[in-house]
Amino acid sequence: MKLAIKAFRKGGDGRAIAPRPGWLAFGTLAALVALSLALVFVFTQSTRVADDLAREDERLLVARYMDRAAASIATAQAVQTTWDDATRRASIGNDPVWQDTFIGQFFWNRFKADAVFLVRPDGTLMRSFVNGEPSNAAGYQELRWQVEGLISRAQPLLSADDAAVQMRRLADAQWPFDSAGRPLSTWAGMSVLYRGRPAFLTVLSIIPDHEFSLLKRKPNFVASLRYFDTGWMAQMGRDLILPGVMFKTAPPLAENLNQVPVDNVFGERLGWIEWNAKTPGPTIVRRTAPLLVVYLLFFLGLFAGAMKIVRRLRQTTQELQASEAQAQHNSMHDAMSGLPNRGYYMQRLRTQLAASIAGTLQGNLFVAYIDLDSFKVINDTLGHQIGDELVRQVAARLRRNLPPQDFVSRFGGDEFVLLRCAPGGAESADALGAEIMALMREPFVISGTTLDVTCSCGISWGPEQSEDPAELLRRADIAMYRAKQRGRSRYRRFTHDMDASAKLRGEMETELRRAISKDELSVAYQPIVAIESGAVRGFEALLRWGHRDRGQIRPDLFVPIAERGGLMVPLGNWMLRHVFNECRNWPDCDISVNLSPVQIMAADFVATMAGLISETGMDPRRVVLEITEGVMLDRSAHVVGVLRALGQMGFRIALDDFGTGYSSLAYLRLFQFDRIKIDRSFVQNIEGDGDARSILSSIVSLGRNLRMKVVAEGVETEIQRLLVQTAGCDMAQGYLFWKPMPAEEARALLGQREEAPRLKLAG
Ligand code: C2E
Ligand code: CA
Ligand code: CA
Repeated sequence: MKLAIKAFRKGGDGRAIAPRPGWLAFGTLAALVALSLALVFVFTQSTRVADDLAREDERLLVARYMDRAAASIATAQAVQTTWDDATRRASIGNDPVWQDTFIGQFFWNRFKADAVFLVRPDGTLMRSFVNGEPSNAAGYQELRWQVEGLISRAQPLLSADDAAVQMRRLADAQWPFDSAGRPLSTWAGMSVLYRGRPAFLTVLSIIPDHEFSLLKRKPNFVASLRYFDTGWMAQMGRDLILPGVMFKTAPPLAENLNQVPVDNVFGERLGWIEWNAKTPGPTIVRRTAPLLVVYLLFFLGLFAGAMKIVRRLRQTTQELQASEAQAQHNSMHDAMSGLPNRGYYMQRLRTQLAASIAGTLQGNLFVAYIDLDSFKVINDTLGHQIGDELVRQVAARLRRNLPPQDFVSRFGGDEFVLLRCAPGGAESADALGAEIMALMREPFVISGTTLDVTCSCGISWGPEQSEDPAELLRRADIAMYRAKQRGRSRYRRFTHDMDASAKLRGEMETELRRAISKDELSVAYQPIVAIESGAVRGFEALLRWGHRDRGQIRPDLFVPIAERGGLMVPLGNWMLRHVFNECRNWPDCDISVNLSPVQIMAADFVATMAGLISETGMDPRRVVLEITEGVMLDRSAHVVGVLRALGQMGFRIALDDFGTGYSSLAYLRLFQFDRIKIDRSFVQNIEGDGDARSILSSIVSLGRNLRMKVVAEGVETEIQRLLVQTAGCDMAQGYLFWKPMPAEEARALLGQREEAPRLKLAG
């Protein structure tokens, strides 16, 4: 997996397509930060604008309040100056007593006028009051020019006898007008500095309210002064809800203060009214800051989430690509050994062969087909884990020791195929074959067991021998089978005369298939006799194939073909059924049947046997099942379990070909056999070999101790018979007694036995 990912990352394409989350994240984060900064900027800017607008509003309010203050003083005072009495006693006439009461005291009490001056139209002072009390004119000179200025602005209408002048009652808050609708009462006001203090100065004309005839000449004026004292300022603050209202002669500098300038009507700056500005900005910030934080957190969360999704997506994409790469790797490689598989090999062979034919690749392509010689036995007997480990070790050894340019693949099972590009032909094939053989010479060590494994190898090469990849492979396979036929553990180069025999093999497999269904098979029976008397104790059933064209084919030849071609189970079942049916009623004899390891390893073998017994009615106690020691090599509980189950059903089990393997004795401990059969080759050796004789004696006595019958196979001479008899064998089988014979003869033999026992020996 890791390798595959690495491979993918190295791929130029992969790099070009792969997204770059680093840049993506950075870009998104930068955009987010920029957006947030912009937001903060807009936010602070808008609070500043809000502050400015609020300050502006406050200034407008204060300015208007100031204007209104002057106007309201004047309009309130006009009640006292628009009056017939006032005209008589303070304008046309001069009644100081009246003036003291109705001007001095009234203006003080009612309007809080700090100073009041009764003035003639030319600005000269008639009478003055301070805090309601008559006072000398001190201070008027300071004001006079300003009072005169106001008088000139507040000149009333003087056409008193204008017939159109109307009168309105005061209760209606209406004033006398002239015919043009202009009010008769006039006033003007402004802010002044009086004795260093800011004040409102208002000037009002004194006019009649009923007797307009009194208006004969320019009226006098009442000028009044009202300080903006702290009380007044506080009142303004309360009215306008503004804190800290004050008058200052110097402009205020503090940031939190707001102010309006105070000028007189002549445009002279008197000072400033200042107060603490009520800016909404900080409040807005305070109230909305949590929202802003929430917004930023939300965006951060959004960003983190998005990044997580992007990363997950990228991871998924990578995994997908990796698994694609993995799938591709898997589709081209063999899982167990990690080597390239058949598909990959063929692809490689095709392209290289094409390149060699086109001349872009120099030399021949050598195809070496390698097959382990004893793999099937190892797999069937030592177990699949050992078999698998052997495959892995062979793969690793080939890969490690052959040059890296050689392409080593596994086609499955124990078949390895190698591709080498090299100059030359036959000599190079020989070199390659020798190299492979040398590699396999060292034994393999698997879970502590040393295994001597040999292999057979067939080599073909193209384009010299063939330009067709499949044909090259087929020829290497043929050469490999030739190597096996020649005795294994060797390599063979393909030669054209091999083709024919290989074809024969393939054909035989097809024909064997047909033979099973078409009943071309039969069974021969070889008697097994008691060694001293020569009496027939039983028979070994042996498969026979009478081929239409090829005549009798030996089981040694076709049984391995059946095993290799997956035909052994149906073939074995045919054999068992046939034998059981045929011998069911034979009197008083054992029937031995050979079992292939493939049959025993089949999952349902015990059930198959039970089925055959009930089907044929054969007594299992009469049947001896012969197994080779190869089966017993398998230590797995399975085979022993199968043998035990068969034993419980009544079958007897014989260990066949005893003495050919080197571990035979060890396996006698694993299972209680009923019989052992000393192999033919062993029997035939004892004639000239004293050691073999003593080994035979000890085997027989061991067999006796383990309560097993001992059968000597392949007894061909009288000496052999004598020797095995001396060693203590119970029974014998061999050409000295009988050759395998057809069923009828065997059956007849049993009949003769009844009549004339010891017939053969007597003859
Ligand atoms: P095997 O089990 O060792 O069978 C005995 C073989 O030795 C038989 O060969 C038999 O004809 C031969 N033989 C008997 N006496 C002598 C003798 O004195 N001298 C010599 N030289 N040979 C003798 P056959 O029938 O050709 O069978 C060969 C092998 O084929 C058998 O060896 C057995 O392993 C296998 N085979 C035969 N029938 C079956 C079968 O039904 N199932 C399976 N799985 N294998 C079978
Ligand atoms: Ca046998
Ligand atoms: Ca045998």
